[in-house]
Amino acid sequence: MKTDIEIARDCAMKPVAEVADALGIDAEDLELYGRYKAKFSDALWSKLDSAPQGKLVLVTAINPTPAGEGKTTVTVGLGQALSRLGKKAIVALREPSLGPCFGMKGGATGGGYAQLVPMEDLNLHFTGDFHAITAANNLLAALLDNHLHQGNALNIDSQQITFRRCMDINDRALRHTVVGLGGRVNGVTREDGFMITVASEIMAILCLARDLADLKRRLARMIVAWRRDDTPVTVSDLQVTGALAALLKDALKPNLVQTLEHSPAIVHGGPFANIAHGCSSVRGTRLALKLADIVVTEAGFGADLGAEKFFNIKCRASGLRPDAAVLVATVRALKYNGGVAKRELGYENLDALRQGLGNLGKHIENLHKFGVPVVVTLNVFTSDTDAEHALIDQYCRERGCDLVLSRVWEQGGAGGEALALRVVELLENSDIEFRLLYPDALPLAEKIATIATEIYGAQGVSYSPAAHKALKRISDAGMASLPICMAKTQYSLSDDPKALGRPEGFRLHIRDVQAAAGAGFVVAYAGDIMTMPGLPATPAALNIDIDDNGVISGLF
Ligand code: ADP
Ligand code: MG
Repeated sequence: MKTDIEIARDCAMKPVAEVADALGIDAEDLELYGRYKAKFSDALWSKLDSAPQGKLVLVTAINPTPAGEGKTTVTVGLGQALSRLGKKAIVALREPSLGPCFGMKGGATGGGYAQLVPMEDLNLHFTGDFHAITAANNLLAALLDNHLHQGNALNIDSQQITFRRCMDINDRALRHTVVGLGGRVNGVTREDGFMITVASEIMAILCLARDLADLKRRLARMIVAWRRDDTPVTVSDLQVTGALAALLKDALKPNLVQTLEHSPAIVHGGPFANIAHGCSSVRGTRLALKLADIVVTEAGFGADLGAEKFFNIKCRASGLRPDAAVLVATVRALKYNGGVAKRELGYENLDALRQGLGNLGKHIENLHKFGVPVVVTLNVFTSDTDAEHALIDQYCRERGCDLVLSRVWEQGGAGGEALALRVVELLENSDIEFRLLYPDALPLAEKIATIATEIYGAQGVSYSPAAHKALKRISDAGMASLPICMAKTQYSLSDDPKALGRPEGFRLHIRDVQAAAGAGFVVAYAGDIMTMPGLPATPAALNIDIDDNGVISGLF
Protein backbone atom coordinates (compact mmCIF):
# COMPACT_ATOMS: atom_id res chain seq x y z
CA MET A 1 0.00 0.00 0.00
CA LYS A 2 1.15 3.50 -0.78
CA THR A 3 1.90 5.97 2.00
CA ASP A 4 -0.65 8.63 2.93
CA ILE A 5 1.28 11.35 1.16
CA GLU A 6 1.70 9.26 -2.01
CA ILE A 7 -2.04 8.59 -2.15
CA ALA A 8 -2.79 12.26 -1.55
CA ARG A 9 -0.37 13.31 -4.29
CA ASP A 10 -2.11 11.01 -6.82
CA CYS A 11 -5.45 12.74 -6.27
CA ALA A 12 -6.54 14.92 -9.20
CA MET A 13 -8.07 17.67 -7.08
CA LYS A 14 -10.99 19.74 -8.30
CA PRO A 15 -10.66 23.51 -8.10
CA VAL A 16 -12.09 24.50 -4.73
CA ALA A 17 -14.55 26.80 -6.50
CA GLU A 18 -16.18 23.66 -7.97
CA VAL A 19 -16.43 22.08 -4.53
CA ALA A 20 -18.11 25.27 -3.32
CA ASP A 21 -20.39 25.36 -6.34
CA ALA A 22 -21.70 21.88 -5.47
CA LEU A 23 -22.75 23.37 -2.11
CA GLY A 24 -24.53 26.19 -3.88
CA ILE A 25 -21.93 28.81 -3.00
CA ASP A 26 -21.06 31.50 -5.53
CA ALA A 27 -17.45 32.30 -6.32
CA GLU A 28 -18.00 35.80 -4.94
CA ASP A 29 -18.51 34.32 -1.46
CA LEU A 30 -15.11 32.64 -1.52
CA GLU A 31 -11.72 34.11 -0.75
CA LEU A 32 -9.32 31.92 -2.68
CA TYR A 33 -5.95 30.88 -1.28
CA GLY A 34 -4.61 29.41 -4.51
CA ARG A 35 -6.75 26.94 -6.51
CA TYR A 36 -7.48 24.36 -3.85
CA LYS A 37 -8.03 26.26 -0.62
CA ALA A 38 -10.52 28.98 0.17
CA LYS A 39 -12.03 30.89 3.04
CA PHE A 40 -15.73 31.65 3.21
CA SER A 41 -16.38 35.36 3.06
CA ASP A 42 -18.22 37.07 5.91
CA ALA A 43 -20.95 38.12 3.46
CA LEU A 44 -22.04 34.49 3.05
CA TRP A 45 -23.41 34.26 6.60
CA SER A 46 -26.38 36.57 6.18
CA LYS A 47 -27.34 34.82 2.93
CA LEU A 48 -27.68 31.57 4.86
CA ASP A 49 -29.84 33.00 7.65
CA SER A 50 -32.96 31.15 6.61
CA ALA A 51 -31.28 27.92 5.50
CA PRO A 52 -32.42 24.84 7.44
CA GLN A 53 -30.05 23.22 9.91
CA GLY A 54 -28.46 19.82 9.15
CA LYS A 55 -27.79 16.97 11.60
CA LEU A 56 -24.59 16.84 13.61
CA VAL A 57 -22.60 13.62 14.05
CA LEU A 58 -19.68 13.48 16.46
CA VAL A 59 -16.81 11.06 15.84
CA THR A 60 -14.87 10.13 18.96
CA ALA A 61 -12.84 7.14 20.15
CA ILE A 62 -11.57 4.86 22.88
CA ASN A 63 -8.28 5.71 24.60
CA PRO A 64 -5.65 5.63 21.88
CA THR A 65 -2.25 4.15 21.21
CA PRO A 66 0.48 6.73 20.56
CA ALA A 67 -0.21 6.31 16.82
CA GLY A 68 -3.86 7.46 16.95
CA GLU A 69 -7.00 5.43 16.39
CA GLY A 70 -8.04 6.72 13.01
CA LYS A 71 -10.75 9.16 14.12
CA THR A 72 -9.84 11.64 11.41
CA THR A 73 -9.54 8.82 8.91
CA VAL A 74 -13.02 7.54 9.83
CA THR A 75 -14.49 11.07 9.90
CA VAL A 76 -13.21 11.82 6.41
CA GLY A 77 -14.18 8.34 5.16
CA LEU A 78 -17.68 8.71 6.60
CA GLY A 79 -18.05 12.05 4.81
CA GLN A 80 -16.91 10.42 1.58
CA ALA A 81 -19.31 7.49 2.09
CA LEU A 82 -22.31 9.74 2.84
CA SER A 83 -21.57 11.69 -0.33
CA ARG A 84 -21.36 8.45 -2.31
CA LEU A 85 -24.83 7.58 -1.02
CA GLY A 86 -26.07 10.87 -2.44
CA LYS A 87 -26.31 12.71 0.89
CA LYS A 88 -25.35 16.34 1.20
CA ALA A 89 -22.59 15.89 3.77
CA ILE A 90 -19.69 17.99 5.03
CA VAL A 91 -16.88 17.01 7.35
CA ALA A 92 -15.90 19.70 9.87
CA LEU A 93 -12.40 19.17 11.23
CA ARG A 94 -9.53 20.83 13.05
CA GLU A 95 -6.48 22.22 11.30
CA PRO A 96 -3.31 20.21 12.00
CA SER A 97 -0.64 21.58 14.32
CA LEU A 98 2.99 21.62 13.22
CA GLY A 99 3.93 20.06 16.58
CA PRO A 100 2.88 16.45 15.93
CA CYS A 101 3.69 16.80 12.22
CA PHE A 102 7.39 17.07 12.94
CA GLY A 103 7.18 15.15 16.20
CA MET A 104 5.57 11.82 16.87
CA LYS A 105 2.31 11.40 15.05
CA GLY A 106 2.74 12.88 11.59
CA GLY A 107 -0.04 14.65 9.70
CA ALA A 108 -3.63 15.01 10.83
CA THR A 109 -5.68 14.97 7.65
CA GLY A 110 -6.81 11.33 7.67
CA GLY A 111 -5.07 8.32 6.18
CA GLY A 112 -5.08 5.85 3.31
CA TYR A 113 -7.98 6.50 0.93
CA ALA A 114 -9.82 8.70 3.42
CA GLN A 115 -7.89 11.95 3.44
CA LEU A 116 -8.23 15.67 2.96
CA VAL A 117 -6.28 17.41 0.23
CA PRO A 118 -4.10 19.34 -0.44
CA MET A 119 -2.49 17.27 2.29
CA GLU A 120 0.91 18.98 2.39
CA ASP A 121 -0.60 22.45 2.62
CA LEU A 122 -3.07 21.45 5.32
CA ASN A 123 -0.32 19.90 7.41
CA LEU A 124 2.20 22.71 6.97
CA HIS A 125 0.98 26.31 6.92
CA PHE A 126 -2.46 25.97 5.30
CA THR A 127 -4.10 29.42 5.24
CA GLY A 128 -1.94 30.82 8.02
CA ASP A 129 -4.58 30.73 10.77
CA PHE A 130 -2.23 29.30 13.39
CA HIS A 131 0.44 31.83 12.55
CA ALA A 132 -2.09 34.61 13.04
CA ILE A 133 -3.03 33.17 16.42
CA THR A 134 0.63 32.85 17.39
CA ALA A 135 1.26 36.45 16.33
CA ALA A 136 -1.74 37.77 18.26
CA ASN A 137 -0.68 35.80 21.33
CA ASN A 138 2.89 37.04 21.22
CA LEU A 139 1.84 40.61 20.47
CA LEU A 140 -0.12 40.44 23.71
CA ALA A 141 2.95 39.12 25.53
CA ALA A 142 5.09 41.94 24.17
CA LEU A 143 2.47 44.55 25.16
CA LEU A 144 2.24 43.08 28.64
CA ASP A 145 6.01 43.12 29.18
CA ASN A 146 6.14 46.63 27.77
CA HIS A 147 3.47 47.68 30.23
CA LEU A 148 5.64 46.43 33.10
CA HIS A 149 8.67 48.20 31.64
CA GLN A 150 6.86 51.50 31.16
CA GLY A 151 5.92 51.81 34.82
CA ASN A 152 3.20 49.20 35.39
CA ALA A 153 0.28 51.60 35.79
CA LEU A 154 -2.08 48.63 36.22
CA ASN A 155 -0.13 47.44 39.23
CA ILE A 156 0.37 43.93 37.81
CA ASP A 157 2.17 41.50 40.11
CA SER A 158 5.00 40.30 37.86
CA GLN A 159 5.09 37.08 39.92
CA GLN A 160 1.51 36.36 38.98
CA ILE A 161 1.44 36.65 35.20
CA THR A 162 -0.58 33.64 34.04
CA PHE A 163 -0.38 34.46 30.33
CA ARG A 164 2.30 32.58 28.33
CA ARG A 165 4.00 33.13 25.01
CA CYS A 166 3.30 30.45 22.40
CA MET A 167 4.67 28.70 19.34
CA ASP A 168 3.26 25.88 17.20
CA ILE A 169 6.32 23.63 17.48
CA ASN A 170 7.12 20.99 20.10
CA ASP A 171 9.99 22.51 22.08
CA ARG A 172 10.52 21.35 25.62
CA ALA A 173 13.38 23.80 26.14
CA LEU A 174 10.87 26.66 26.09
CA ARG A 175 8.60 25.31 28.82
CA HIS A 176 10.30 27.46 31.44
CA THR A 177 12.17 30.59 30.43
CA VAL A 178 13.34 33.85 31.92
CA VAL A 179 12.66 37.04 29.99
CA GLY A 180 13.97 40.56 30.48
CA LEU A 181 17.59 39.57 31.18
CA GLY A 182 20.31 42.16 30.53
CA GLY A 183 19.45 45.08 32.75
CA ARG A 184 16.82 47.79 32.92
CA VAL A 185 16.67 48.76 29.24
CA ASN A 186 15.83 45.18 28.32
CA GLY A 187 12.62 44.95 30.29
CA VAL A 188 11.50 43.57 33.61
CA THR A 189 13.16 40.29 34.49
CA ARG A 190 10.65 37.55 35.23
CA GLU A 191 10.01 33.86 34.80
CA ASP A 192 8.02 33.06 31.70
CA GLY A 193 7.40 30.07 29.44
CA PHE A 194 5.81 28.97 26.18
CA MET A 195 2.85 26.78 25.45
CA ILE A 196 2.11 25.22 22.07
CA THR A 197 -0.21 27.46 20.01
CA VAL A 198 -2.95 24.81 20.00
CA ALA A 199 -3.12 25.02 23.81
CA SER A 200 -3.38 28.82 23.88
CA GLU A 201 -6.48 30.62 25.06
CA ILE A 202 -6.59 32.65 21.84
CA MET A 203 -6.93 29.39 19.90
CA ALA A 204 -9.86 28.41 22.13
CA ILE A 205 -11.40 31.87 21.77
CA LEU A 206 -11.19 31.72 17.98
CA CYS A 207 -12.84 28.30 18.04
CA LEU A 208 -15.70 29.33 20.32
CA ALA A 209 -16.39 32.83 18.99
CA ARG A 210 -19.68 33.33 17.17
CA ASP A 211 -18.52 36.27 15.10
CA LEU A 212 -16.07 39.17 15.13
CA ALA A 213 -18.01 41.02 17.85
CA ASP A 214 -17.99 37.94 20.07
CA LEU A 215 -14.28 37.40 19.35
CA LYS A 216 -13.60 40.91 20.63
CA ARG A 217 -15.76 40.44 23.71
CA ARG A 218 -13.89 37.25 24.54
CA LEU A 219 -10.43 38.71 23.90
CA ALA A 220 -11.30 41.67 26.14
CA ARG A 221 -12.21 39.33 29.02
CA MET A 222 -8.99 37.31 28.85
CA ILE A 223 -7.08 37.37 32.13
CA VAL A 224 -3.35 37.88 31.68
CA ALA A 225 -2.24 38.38 35.28
CA TRP A 226 -3.37 39.02 38.84
CA ARG A 227 -2.63 41.78 41.29
CA ARG A 228 -1.47 41.29 44.86
CA ASP A 229 -5.05 41.87 46.00
CA ASP A 230 -6.29 38.92 43.92
CA THR A 231 -8.03 41.01 41.29
CA PRO A 232 -7.51 39.98 37.66
CA VAL A 233 -5.89 42.08 34.91
CA THR A 234 -7.46 41.62 31.50
CA VAL A 235 -6.72 42.36 27.86
CA SER A 236 -9.33 45.08 28.11
CA ASP A 237 -7.36 46.69 30.98
CA LEU A 238 -4.30 46.73 28.70
CA GLN A 239 -6.46 48.37 25.98
CA VAL A 240 -5.22 46.07 23.23
CA THR A 241 -8.36 44.11 22.30
CA GLY A 242 -8.65 45.85 18.95
CA ALA A 243 -5.05 45.18 17.98
CA LEU A 244 -5.38 41.46 18.70
CA ALA A 245 -8.70 41.21 16.86
CA ALA A 246 -7.23 42.96 13.82
CA LEU A 247 -4.55 40.29 13.57
CA LEU A 248 -7.22 37.58 13.70
CA LYS A 249 -9.70 38.92 11.16
CA ASP A 250 -8.94 36.38 8.44
CA ALA A 251 -8.15 33.51 10.80
CA LEU A 252 -11.76 33.76 12.02
CA LYS A 253 -13.09 32.78 8.59
CA PRO A 254 -13.61 29.01 8.11
CA ASN A 255 -11.61 27.23 5.38
CA LEU A 256 -12.91 24.99 2.61
CA VAL A 257 -10.98 22.06 1.11
CA GLN A 258 -11.96 18.66 -0.33
CA THR A 259 -11.63 14.97 0.44
CA LEU A 260 -9.84 12.57 -1.94
CA GLU A 261 -13.31 11.98 -3.46
CA HIS A 262 -14.00 15.72 -3.86
CA SER A 263 -16.66 15.99 -1.16
CA PRO A 264 -16.45 19.18 0.91
CA ALA A 265 -14.52 19.64 4.15
CA ILE A 266 -14.55 22.69 6.40
CA VAL A 267 -11.29 22.79 8.35
CA HIS A 268 -11.02 25.47 10.99
CA GLY A 269 -9.24 25.94 14.31
CA GLY A 270 -7.26 23.30 16.09
CA PRO A 271 -7.07 23.09 19.87
CA PHE A 272 -5.57 19.84 21.17
CA ALA A 273 -7.95 17.72 23.23
CA ASN A 274 -5.56 16.77 26.03
CA ILE A 275 -4.39 20.28 26.94
CA ALA A 276 -7.21 22.36 25.39
CA HIS A 277 -10.87 21.83 24.45
CA GLY A 278 -10.22 19.72 21.38
CA CYS A 279 -12.93 20.83 18.95
CA SER A 280 -12.86 22.53 15.56
CA SER A 281 -14.46 25.97 15.44
CA VAL A 282 -18.08 26.72 16.26
CA ARG A 283 -18.15 28.93 13.15
CA GLY A 284 -17.00 26.09 10.93
CA THR A 285 -19.58 23.70 12.39
CA ARG A 286 -22.38 26.25 12.15
CA LEU A 287 -21.59 27.06 8.56
CA ALA A 288 -21.41 23.36 7.70
CA LEU A 289 -24.81 22.77 9.30
CA LYS A 290 -26.29 25.53 7.13
CA LEU A 291 -24.75 24.11 3.98
CA ALA A 292 -25.32 20.36 4.44
CA ASP A 293 -27.88 17.84 5.67
CA ILE A 294 -25.30 15.89 7.66
CA VAL A 295 -22.16 17.27 9.28
CA VAL A 296 -19.53 14.88 10.61
CA THR A 297 -17.08 16.34 13.11
CA GLU A 298 -14.29 14.90 15.26
CA ALA A 299 -13.39 15.65 18.86
CA GLY A 300 -9.89 14.67 19.75
CA PHE A 301 -8.37 11.65 21.47
CA GLY A 302 -10.67 9.44 23.57
CA ALA A 303 -14.27 10.24 24.40
CA ASP A 304 -13.19 10.98 28.00
CA LEU A 305 -11.51 14.16 26.71
CA GLY A 306 -12.83 14.84 23.21
CA ALA A 307 -16.51 14.03 23.56
CA GLU A 308 -16.82 15.29 27.13
CA LYS A 309 -15.47 18.71 26.11
CA PHE A 310 -17.40 18.71 22.84
CA PHE A 311 -20.62 18.38 24.83
CA ASN A 312 -19.84 20.30 28.02
CA ILE A 313 -17.86 23.14 26.44
CA LYS A 314 -18.56 23.50 22.71
CA CYS A 315 -22.23 22.52 22.75
CA ARG A 316 -22.87 24.42 25.99
CA ALA A 317 -21.25 27.59 24.68
CA SER A 318 -22.79 27.52 21.21
CA GLY A 319 -26.17 25.86 21.61
CA LEU A 320 -25.15 23.22 19.06
CA ARG A 321 -26.70 19.81 19.71
CA PRO A 322 -25.28 16.43 18.63
CA ASP A 323 -27.65 14.03 16.88
CA ALA A 324 -25.46 10.92 17.03
CA ALA A 325 -21.99 9.77 18.05
CA VAL A 326 -19.64 7.37 16.28
CA LEU A 327 -17.19 5.69 18.64
CA VAL A 328 -14.04 4.53 16.84
CA ALA A 329 -12.16 1.52 18.16
CA THR A 330 -9.28 -0.46 16.72
CA VAL A 331 -8.15 -3.96 17.55
CA ARG A 332 -4.71 -2.47 18.11
CA ALA A 333 -5.82 0.10 20.67
CA LEU A 334 -7.99 -2.45 22.48
CA LYS A 335 -5.00 -4.78 22.79
CA TYR A 336 -2.85 -1.82 23.87
CA ASN A 337 -5.44 -1.10 26.56
CA GLY A 338 -5.19 -4.78 27.47
CA GLY A 339 -1.49 -4.35 28.20
CA VAL A 340 0.17 -5.42 24.91
CA ALA A 341 3.42 -3.58 24.07
CA LYS A 342 3.39 -1.28 21.03
CA ARG A 343 5.61 -3.51 18.88
CA GLU A 344 3.43 -6.62 19.54
CA LEU A 345 0.14 -5.05 18.46
CA GLY A 346 0.18 -6.72 15.04
CA TYR A 347 -0.31 -10.23 16.49
CA GLU A 348 -3.58 -11.88 17.53
CA ASN A 349 -4.03 -11.84 21.30
CA LEU A 350 -7.58 -12.59 22.40
CA ASP A 351 -6.85 -12.47 26.12
CA ALA A 352 -5.41 -8.97 25.92
CA LEU A 353 -8.26 -7.94 23.65
CA ARG A 354 -10.80 -9.20 26.22
CA GLN A 355 -8.93 -7.25 28.89
CA GLY A 356 -8.86 -4.06 26.80
CA LEU A 357 -12.55 -4.19 25.92
CA GLY A 358 -13.36 -2.69 29.33
CA ASN A 359 -12.07 0.59 27.93
CA LEU A 360 -14.57 0.46 25.07
CA GLY A 361 -17.33 -0.45 27.50
CA LYS A 362 -16.63 2.58 29.68
CA HIS A 363 -16.76 4.95 26.72
CA ILE A 364 -20.07 3.47 25.53
CA GLU A 365 -21.50 4.00 29.03
CA ASN A 366 -20.15 7.55 29.09
CA LEU A 367 -21.70 8.56 25.77
CA HIS A 368 -25.03 7.20 26.92
CA LYS A 369 -24.83 9.54 29.93
CA PHE A 370 -25.20 12.44 27.49
CA GLY A 371 -28.27 10.87 25.93
CA VAL A 372 -26.65 10.59 22.51
CA PRO A 373 -27.23 7.49 20.34
CA VAL A 374 -23.98 5.65 19.68
CA VAL A 375 -22.69 3.41 16.93
CA VAL A 376 -19.35 1.70 17.50
CA THR A 377 -17.15 1.34 14.47
CA LEU A 378 -14.05 -0.75 14.15
CA ASN A 379 -11.39 0.90 12.01
CA VAL A 380 -10.08 -2.25 10.33
CA PHE A 381 -6.32 -2.86 10.05
CA THR A 382 -4.89 -5.54 7.76
CA SER A 383 -3.35 -7.24 10.81
CA ASP A 384 -6.78 -7.80 12.47
CA THR A 385 -8.07 -11.39 12.64
CA ASP A 386 -11.64 -12.71 12.27
CA ALA A 387 -11.54 -14.10 15.81
CA GLU A 388 -10.68 -10.65 17.14
CA HIS A 389 -13.54 -9.04 15.19
CA ALA A 390 -15.98 -11.67 16.42
CA LEU A 391 -15.03 -11.04 20.05
CA ILE A 392 -15.56 -7.27 19.74
CA ASP A 393 -18.83 -7.76 17.90
CA GLN A 394 -20.15 -9.99 20.66
CA TYR A 395 -19.03 -7.51 23.35
CA CYS A 396 -20.87 -4.65 21.66
CA ARG A 397 -24.04 -6.66 21.11
CA GLU A 398 -24.12 -7.59 24.78
CA ARG A 399 -24.15 -3.84 25.50
CA GLY A 400 -26.99 -3.05 23.14
CA CYS A 401 -24.68 -1.35 20.65
CA ASP A 402 -24.05 -2.15 17.00
CA LEU A 403 -20.58 -2.74 15.70
CA VAL A 404 -20.00 -1.67 12.11
CA LEU A 405 -16.71 -2.27 10.33
CA SER A 406 -14.99 0.69 8.63
CA ARG A 407 -12.68 -0.02 5.75
CA VAL A 408 -12.25 3.56 4.64
CA TRP A 409 -8.49 3.57 5.08
CA GLU A 410 -8.20 0.77 2.50
CA GLN A 411 -11.19 1.53 0.28
CA GLY A 412 -12.14 5.18 0.75
CA GLY A 413 -15.85 6.07 0.81
CA ALA A 414 -16.88 2.66 -0.52
CA GLY A 415 -15.43 1.10 2.63
CA GLY A 416 -17.56 3.36 4.79
CA GLU A 417 -20.99 2.76 3.27
CA ALA A 418 -22.08 0.30 5.94
CA LEU A 419 -21.23 2.86 8.61
CA ALA A 420 -22.87 5.67 6.65
CA LEU A 421 -26.10 3.67 6.29
CA ARG A 422 -26.14 2.90 10.00
CA VAL A 423 -25.55 6.57 10.85
CA VAL A 424 -28.38 7.68 8.54
CA GLU A 425 -30.67 5.12 10.16
CA LEU A 426 -29.74 6.42 13.63
CA LEU A 427 -30.38 10.00 12.56
CA GLU A 428 -33.79 9.09 11.19
CA ASN A 429 -34.99 6.89 14.01
CA SER A 430 -33.42 7.83 17.31
CA ASP A 431 -35.05 9.86 20.01
CA ILE A 432 -32.47 12.21 21.37
CA GLU A 433 -32.54 13.58 24.83
CA PHE A 434 -29.22 15.32 24.83
CA ARG A 435 -28.14 16.45 28.28
CA LEU A 436 -25.05 18.12 29.64
CA LEU A 437 -23.22 16.33 32.42
CA TYR A 438 -23.51 19.20 34.92
CA PRO A 439 -25.33 22.53 35.22
CA ASP A 440 -23.57 25.91 35.12
CA ALA A 441 -24.56 26.52 38.72
CA LEU A 442 -22.61 23.58 40.16
CA PRO A 443 -19.52 24.84 42.08
CA LEU A 444 -16.21 24.41 40.19
CA ALA A 445 -14.84 21.70 42.48
CA GLU A 446 -18.02 19.71 42.11
CA LYS A 447 -17.85 20.02 38.33
CA ILE A 448 -14.34 18.60 38.45
CA ALA A 449 -15.50 15.82 40.74
CA THR A 450 -18.42 15.00 38.43
CA ILE A 451 -16.14 14.62 35.41
CA ALA A 452 -13.61 12.61 37.43
CA THR A 453 -16.09 10.16 38.91
CA GLU A 454 -18.72 9.92 36.17
CA ILE A 455 -16.50 9.98 33.09
CA TYR A 456 -13.09 8.78 34.25
CA GLY A 457 -14.33 6.35 36.90
CA ALA A 458 -12.22 7.93 39.66
CA GLN A 459 -12.95 7.45 43.32
CA GLY A 460 -12.33 11.10 44.10
CA VAL A 461 -10.20 14.17 43.43
CA SER A 462 -7.13 15.51 45.28
CA TYR A 463 -5.94 19.10 44.90
CA SER A 464 -2.50 20.58 45.38
CA PRO A 465 -2.50 23.58 47.73
CA ALA A 466 -1.93 25.85 44.71
CA ALA A 467 -4.90 24.38 42.84
CA HIS A 468 -7.06 24.71 45.91
CA LYS A 469 -6.19 28.38 46.27
CA ALA A 470 -6.66 29.07 42.57
CA LEU A 471 -10.13 27.52 42.61
CA LYS A 472 -11.17 29.82 45.43
CA ARG A 473 -9.72 32.89 43.78
CA ILE A 474 -11.45 32.11 40.47
CA SER A 475 -14.78 31.54 42.21
CA ASP A 476 -14.38 34.71 44.26
CA ALA A 477 -13.68 36.66 41.08
CA GLY A 478 -17.12 35.65 39.78
CA MET A 479 -16.27 32.80 37.42
CA ALA A 480 -17.81 29.89 39.31
CA SER A 481 -20.43 29.29 36.64
CA LEU A 482 -17.91 28.44 33.89
CA PRO A 483 -17.52 24.86 32.64
CA ILE A 484 -14.30 22.89 33.22
CA CYS A 485 -11.69 22.18 30.54
CA MET A 486 -9.72 19.23 31.84
CA ALA A 487 -6.05 18.95 30.84
CA LYS A 488 -5.17 15.28 31.19
CA THR A 489 -3.20 12.53 29.50
CA GLN A 490 -5.03 11.04 26.52
CA TYR A 491 -3.70 7.53 27.10
CA SER A 492 -5.68 6.67 30.18
CA LEU A 493 -9.06 7.38 31.72
CA SER A 494 -7.01 8.38 34.79
CA ASP A 495 -4.20 10.97 35.04
CA ASP A 496 -1.60 8.19 34.88
CA PRO A 497 -0.71 7.39 31.24
CA LYS A 498 0.25 3.85 32.25
CA ALA A 499 -3.10 2.95 33.83
CA LEU A 500 -4.69 1.45 30.72
CA GLY A 501 -7.99 -0.34 30.10
CA ARG A 502 -10.65 0.61 32.64
CA PRO A 503 -8.76 1.71 35.76
CA GLU A 504 -10.62 1.74 39.05
CA GLY A 505 -10.10 2.93 42.61
CA PHE A 506 -7.86 5.85 41.64
CA ARG A 507 -7.94 9.51 42.59
CA LEU A 508 -7.55 12.31 40.07
CA HIS A 509 -4.78 14.74 41.05
CA ILE A 510 -5.37 18.38 40.17
CA ARG A 511 -2.08 20.23 40.16
CA ASP A 512 -3.19 23.67 39.03
CA VAL A 513 -6.30 25.53 37.94
CA GLN A 514 -6.45 28.55 35.63
CA ALA A 515 -9.27 30.77 34.47
CA ALA A 516 -9.64 31.10 30.71
CA ALA A 517 -12.23 33.85 31.05
CA GLY A 518 -12.16 34.72 27.35
CA ALA A 519 -12.62 31.16 26.18
CA GLY A 520 -15.22 30.81 28.89
CA PHE A 521 -13.89 27.85 30.86
CA VAL A 522 -11.66 26.97 33.78
CA VAL A 523 -8.70 24.75 32.96
CA ALA A 524 -7.88 22.03 35.51
CA TYR A 525 -4.45 20.45 35.06
CA ALA A 526 -4.48 16.78 36.08
CA GLY A 527 -1.35 14.75 36.86
CA ASP A 528 1.78 16.00 35.12
CA ILE A 529 0.23 16.95 31.78
CA MET A 530 2.23 19.73 30.07
CA THR A 531 1.07 22.46 27.70
CA MET A 532 4.26 22.40 25.63
CA PRO A 533 5.03 18.92 24.23
CA GLY A 534 8.57 17.71 23.60
CA LEU A 535 9.99 15.89 20.59
CA PRO A 536 10.63 12.11 20.66
CA ALA A 537 14.06 10.47 20.23
CA THR A 538 13.43 10.04 16.50
CA PRO A 539 11.19 12.93 15.42
CA ALA A 540 9.15 12.61 12.21
CA ALA A 541 11.15 15.64 11.01
CA LEU A 542 14.12 13.34 10.30
CA ASN A 543 12.17 11.76 7.42
CA ILE A 544 10.62 14.87 5.93
CA ASP A 545 12.14 16.25 2.75
CA ILE A 546 11.36 18.36 -0.30
CA ASP A 547 12.96 17.59 -3.67
CA ASP A 548 14.26 20.07 -6.24
CA ASN A 549 10.82 20.15 -7.88
CA GLY A 550 9.07 21.08 -4.66
CA VAL A 551 7.63 17.62 -4.00
CA ILE A 552 7.38 16.92 -0.27
CA SER A 553 7.89 13.45 1.19
CA GLY A 554 7.77 11.90 4.64
CA LEU A 555 4.71 13.68 6.04
CA PHE A 556 3.39 10.10 6.59
P1 ADP B 1 -6.66 10.06 14.99
O1 ADP B 1 -7.47 11.09 14.29
O2 ADP B 1 -7.49 9.13 15.80
O3 ADP B 1 -5.53 10.61 15.78
P2 ADP B 1 -5.73 9.43 12.32
O4 ADP B 1 -6.96 9.28 11.54
O5 ADP B 1 -4.96 10.69 12.20
O6 ADP B 1 -5.99 9.13 13.87
O7 ADP B 1 -4.80 8.20 11.96
C1 ADP B 1 -3.52 8.04 12.52
C2 ADP B 1 -2.62 7.29 11.56
O8 ADP B 1 -3.05 5.94 11.44
C3 ADP B 1 -2.59 7.86 10.15
O9 ADP B 1 -1.25 7.90 9.71
C4 ADP B 1 -3.38 6.87 9.31
O10 ADP B 1 -2.90 6.74 7.99
C5 ADP B 1 -3.19 5.57 10.07
N1 ADP B 1 -4.37 4.71 9.94
C6 ADP B 1 -5.64 5.06 10.24
N2 ADP B 1 -6.46 4.03 10.00
C7 ADP B 1 -5.70 3.01 9.55
C8 ADP B 1 -5.98 1.66 9.12
N3 ADP B 1 -7.22 1.18 9.15
N4 ADP B 1 -4.94 0.90 8.73
C9 ADP B 1 -3.68 1.39 8.72
N5 ADP B 1 -3.35 2.64 9.11
C10 ADP B 1 -4.35 3.45 9.51
MG1 MG C 1 -7.38 13.21 14.40
